[in-house]
Formats: sequence, C-alpha cells, structure tokens
Amino acid sequence: MQVAQVIVDVPTRQTNSPFSYSIPDHLANQVQPGMRVQVPFGNRKITGFVVGVSNSSSFNGKLKPISDLIDLYPVVDSELLNLAEWLADQTYSFKISCLQTMLPGGMRTKNQKKLIAKNQQVCNQYPEIFQGQPEVEYDRQKFNNQVLAEILKLQKSGDIKVEYDLTHHARPIMRKAYQGQLNQPQINDALKSVRKNAVGQIQLLHMLRKYQNDILLVSKWASLGITSATLKTAEKKGWVASTLKRHVRNPFMRDVAPSHPFKLQPDQQTAVDSIEQAITHQKDQVFLLEGVTGSGKTEVYLQSIAHALELGRTALMLVPEITLTPQIVGRIRSRFGDQVAMLHSAMSAGERYDEWQRINQGKAKVVVGVRSAVFAPLKNVGLIIMDEEHDSSYKQADNPRYQTRDVAKWRAAYNNCPVVLGSATPSLESRARAMKGVYTLLRLPHRINQHALPHVSIIDMKTELAKHHSALSTKLADAIQVRLDKHEQVILLLNRRGYSAFLMCRDCGYVPRCPNCDISLTMHKDTHTLNCHYCGHKEPVPTVCPQCHSKRIRFYGMGSEQLEEQVKDMFPFARVLRMDVDTTRKKGSHEAIIDQFGAHKADILLGTQMIAKGLDFPEVTLVGVLNADSALQFPDFRSSERTFELLTQVSGRSGRADKTGEVIIQTFNPDHYAIQLAKTQDYEKFYATEMRVRHDGKYPPYYYTVKLTGNSPSENQTASEMFGIMNFLKKHLSKKAIILGPTPKTITRINNHYYYQIIIKYRKEPQLKATLDNILVQSQKKQRQGLQIAIDNEPLDFM
Ligand code: ADP
Ligand code: ZN
Ligand code: ZN
Repeated sequence: MQVAQVIVDVPTRQTNSPFSYSIPDHLANQVQPGMRVQVPFGNRKITGFVVGVSNSSSFNGKLKPISDLIDLYPVVDSELLNLAEWLADQTYSFKISCLQTMLPGGMRTKNQKKLIAKNQQVCNQYPEIFQGQPEVEYDRQKFNNQVLAEILKLQKSGDIKVEYDLTHHARPIMRKAYQGQLNQPQINDALKSVRKNAVGQIQLLHMLRKYQNDILLVSKWASLGITSATLKTAEKKGWVASTLKRHVRNPFMRDVAPSHPFKLQPDQQTAVDSIEQAITHQKDQVFLLEGVTGSGKTEVYLQSIAHALELGRTALMLVPEITLTPQIVGRIRSRFGDQVAMLHSAMSAGERYDEWQRINQGKAKVVVGVRSAVFAPLKNVGLIIMDEEHDSSYKQADNPRYQTRDVAKWRAAYNNCPVVLGSATPSLESRARAMKGVYTLLRLPHRINQHALPHVSIIDMKTELAKHHSALSTKLADAIQVRLDKHEQVILLLNRRGYSAFLMCRDCGYVPRCPNCDISLTMHKDTHTLNCHYCGHKEPVPTVCPQCHSKRIRFYGMGSEQLEEQVKDMFPFARVLRMDVDTTRKKGSHEAIIDQFGAHKADILLGTQMIAKGLDFPEVTLVGVLNADSALQFPDFRSSERTFELLTQVSGRSGRADKTGEVIIQTFNPDHYAIQLAKTQDYEKFYATEMRVRHDGKYPPYYYTVKLTGNSPSENQTASEMFGIMNFLKKHLSKKAIILGPTPKTITRINNHYYYQIIIKYRKEPQLKATLDNILVQSQKKQRQGLQIAIDNEPLDFM
C-alpha cells in the first residue's frame, strides 16, 4: 500500500506538517513528490502538494485516499521542495504559500486543472502535447466527444492551436469558400442552394479560411452559428482534416541581432576570472561586483554565463523589474538566443506558463527574470546573478516575505555554484559582508573607455522658489535649451516615492480622505476619480469643497503629467515623451517609448523612477532631477540609502558615450549628506557616513530586525493584544534584545482594520525563532476573534 504525504491548501499552523493519504490502485506508481493532487479534507475536496511517497506496510485502513492527480509530472522538484521547507521556516509563513509562490501565476489557482489530468484520456492519448513538444501533429478524428470538449477548452485558453486543411473529398463549392473565392453575398447564395445540412459546413469552411492562422476561439464559432457538431460532421465526411499543435507563446516582442563578447578590460577580466574559477570548482562563493554605472558589469555577467553554459550548467539572472530594463534582456538574448527564457509580471499568464514549461523541461538554459524568477525550475544551476542587488523590489511585501538574495544564496549552496551580486551602490548589508570577507569584493572602478562621470550640480530650490514658481530652476531650464540647440537629449526625473497627487482646498485646506483608511485619496485623471491605494475605494472628484463650499479645490503637488505640460510650454519646439504608470499601462508601450527615445525621435524623456534604471542612451547629455529629496522626508531608516541610490542611478544615465554628461539636482535639502555625496558619486564615503548613522541608531546591518504587525477591526483589541505580545517577548528574549512598541503603524487604519507594530532589534537571540513561532500558534487561536499577526523577518522599513 502506497501512502502520500501531502501539504494541503489550508493555511494554518496545523497543516504546515503534511497529512497522509493512501494512494488508490488506479493511481498506483503514478504519484510522485512535487505533483499536485486533489484530496478530501473535511467535507471538501482541496488541492495539495505531494511532498513524499512511501510504501507503508503498516497501513491501518484509516487513511483517506487521494481523489485525483492534477499533474502528470512533478511541478516542483526535490530542490524546490527542500527550499519550500527552509523558506517557510525563514519567513514564518505557511509551506503551502511557499510552494504556491514557486509556480507561475496561472498554475496557482485553487481549482487548477486546466491543462492537465482532468481528462486523463487526452493526456494518455497525446502526452506529448502536455510535455510541450510543439510540433507534434494530431489526428483529430481519433478524439471522442469528451476529449474534443477538453481540447476546445485548451484551444480557448490559447494553449493549443488547431490547424485545418481541406481534403480532396470536399465539394467544389466548399473548396471555393475555403480558398476565399466567395464573398459574403456569394456565400449567402450558395447557402440557399445547398441542402440544409451543408449550410453550416460552408460557413465553417469560409471561416476556417478566414481564421486559418488564428487560434479559432470556440466563442467565435458560436457567434457564426457553427457548432462543434458541424465541424465533426465535416471531418467525418472527410471534407476537412485538422491537426492540433501545442501553441507555445513567445513573450519576446522582437528579434535581436546576435552579438559577440567584448575583449575585456583588465578589471572586468579579473572579475570574470574569479567568477569562472568558482563555477569551475563548484564553490558556492558570493561575489559583490561593485562598479559605477557604465563600468561594464553586464559584460561580466554575460561572459560568466557563457562559461557556466560551456560547462553544461544553467544560469539564473535576476533583475529588479524587467519592464524597466528591456535593453538588458535584449543584450542577453543577443548573446544566448533561444536558450533564454524570461519571467516577469507584465507577461500574460499564458506566456509565463509556457516560459516556465521551457525551463522545467530543460529547453531554456538561461533565465532572466524578476524576484519570483529566483524559483525558476532550472536544473543544474551553475551561476546566479542579481543585478542591482540593492533594489527594494527584491524583497517581497506579502507572504512569504522573502528577500531574494537569501533565496539565491540558498540555491547556490544547494547547487554548489557562485552568486554574483552586482551594483553601483550596494546595499549596506552586502557591502558590510564584503568588508568582513564573507563575500568576495570585485571592483570595476572605471567607466568603459574612461568616459568621465557626469558633472553634477545641486540647486537649492528654497532660493529658486523665492524668485519664480516654475518647477524648473533657471539653471536647469537654460541647460535644457543648450541641449535642444545642440540636438542632444535630456532626461527629467520626477521622484514620486512617498509623493502622490491629491486634492486640496486652497481656502480651508480640506483634503479628501478615504472613509476606510487613514490616507488621502489619490487623483486619477484617466478615470477622473479619487482612489484609495490601500482598499480600492473610489469616489468622484468634487468640484466644490465639501467643507467650505469654495470652488478653489484643486489638484495639489506635481505629477508627471503637469510637468509635461510645463515643459512643453517652456520649450514649444521640443519633442517630449513621458514615461510613468499611466503611459506604460498597455503591453509593449514601455518598449515603444524606449525605442522612440533611443532612435532620437524625441528630445526630452520625462518620468518617474522607471526612467532611472538600467537604460543606456548615448545621446543623453543632461539629466535633471526635479525633487531629489521627496524620499528623505520618509520616516524610514533607509531613506538616505534610497536617495543616494536613486541619484547615482539616474546620474549614470547621462554621458554614457563620448560626450561628457551633466546632471542637475534640485532639492530643498542641499546640505544633506545623501545629496552631497551623490554629487561626487562617492559611494565609499556614503558607505562610511551611513554606517555610522546605522551604528548609532542600532539599525541594520549592525542589528538584525523583525517587524511584527497585528491588526483587527477594533483599535482597543489590537493595542491590548500587541501589549500582551510585547510582554511575552520581553519575558522570553534576552535583556540585550531591543523591543520597540507596540506603536500604531504610520497608516494606522486600512480598510477599517487597525494596525500596530512591534520592532525587535537584536544581535544574537537563540530563543527568538521559537518565541515567534509560539506567538503565531497562539494568534492562530485568536484569529477567530479577528486579530491577525504578520511577521516580517528583516523588513525593508519600520513603517
Ligand atoms: P554597466 O552594466 O556597469 O552599467 P555596461 O555593461 O552596460 O555597464 O557597459 C557600458 C557600455 O560599455 C555598454 O555599451 C557596453 O556594451 C560597453 N562595454 C562593456 N564592456 C566592454 C568592453 N570590454 N569593451 C568595449 N565596450 C564594452
Ligand atoms: Zn474648503
Ligand atoms: Zn481606503
């Protein structure tokens, strides 16, 4: 008797350990660890992941059997099963959430049986179709109705493409219809003259012709009055023959020309040599590749990846947000072609699923992707790269709250391969580890071809605003004009972090706020509504102030749209492109803007943070930062680091080629060290200064931190429970642990729930893990009364 251990899809502490189910005879020897199954649970049927299978002779007859098999092959291999265990422990989250996080979006839904075994017949008859061999042809006539129905579903989801062809048995009138020789009136005439049962068939053929190269959606058939019975008849009579093809979606927008490795500069060569050594000798060494923007880090990545591939291994390259860096994906594809798979959130669920399949089947050897791609089912990983390792998008905000860097290091240790963390402005954590010798520091201190770093100047906006009310300082405006005259390009950055466009009454100061949350509503021009970013509440934009009835209730602060208007007013002959969430919502629009700017079809590119990262435009010689310090006002111990990072990043966009660049930073805090040091791009000095601040404030990397958040519909309940937790922590942790709070969170009320937090700072607390686990177990019981606890290990901020 076989028994399967299953992690069921019920997120509680009890279900964090596997449940045993017997494997029924009809599934004997088919169930493997890493497959998903359907199992009875209480009086429901739910999904679960098989994490172990054993031959149990001591079967006591009480186990319930597995109801069904969802996958034909494991979707999570043994490496990822192990990783899920570790991750759940590390992030205080449920194993089921960790396992689900590893799968591409489309596979995560609860009742997901779309592609697979629901109709075992399809699978048994044509397993190749599900194993992803795209070019296998299928004779549809062999399918019975049930199978056909299942295939139609696959077709509808775009997973399978049906191709039809007319046979020589077809009637002449049909052939004409099929060959597109009949127009609609002629078809109507033909339809009148043929016998009734042929009507559908002629329509069908006309349609097949018309949609031959499309995926024939079932809904389309129906709207044209064609039933699947009609199609079947046509096939039965031998008039049409059809083949099924697995349709593999291609997420890449365009082809790229192949490129060749550069002859490396000495610093690059040293870096590549060290990384190659580690790959060859299978050492799980962590490298910190620290190089100013334009120093050739990407070339180091590419040549190291090539080395891993030569040794028959695979490579994983993580980037902060792929939609922001299509150029980097292009460079990787230009070197490694079809071996490259891509995973990011702007892809459709179908595209992600197909890319995931290519990786899982070993067809893709190089994966480029965002945070979640760290779980890509690559086998035999030989190198993991994290570009812009300091980026905050690498930390997941929801359960499981993991830091990608830690997962990358875990996988590197498992696969005996190195990790390369790359950045111009490494996180203090990573730099401190490099200084201690835990990581190996590799430096690229020079820009390629010795291009000078741009000249940076700082404008004090306090004195500017006394003179005029323009968003652009006189110096920046003049500098833009000079570039326009010389036919060079300009980038303008509007720092939007912690900054949103809201309405305010100019007479009484009234600001519309969300009725459910402690936050002002954000203006959305496209829908012309005020929206809450936390709970989704929406309301119309008022034209008079509800408080004082003044009509002077206006939009306050500057969004990129207003900036665009101002810039166009000031430079009526300049061609201006704007890049922000509003202009990049449509798929491909981001690439389109970059292409246009890259082809110098515009003079000025303005936008939010998304223009700061990774872009490489040789004609850009001026970068203006409109409001450098909006992040500095954040109650966040990382705000200086974030500001320094952003300014360094965006400055790196200027003067990438032969012409020396200029950067103009506008700020209200010209003397702040993050801004002063960004001026000289002096990371070394910034690191030293910021480390002192962190040391004095007992912040990371000197201290480890945990953030514990509790919420409930009652503020009193939240507060008193959190006080209880604080006392519990004080009792179980050492005197050296620093326990801050409980305090209301910066935004205390969200969707009518009240949020309080406790911050724990510590250096060594052997009891911490057990204590926190204990708190979670207890809070599980209290959850029925409404209190929810979340633990964030190494949070990004204390807000
Ligand atoms: P980073 O990733 O550090 O910002 P890149 O890898 O983008 O730097 O390099 C900057 C520019 O220099 C790119 O245009 C790249 O093609 C070029 N480059 C990189 N390495 C070399 C090299 N060894 N020889 C010539 N050009 C190089
Ligand atoms: Zn008012
Ligand atoms: Zn709200």
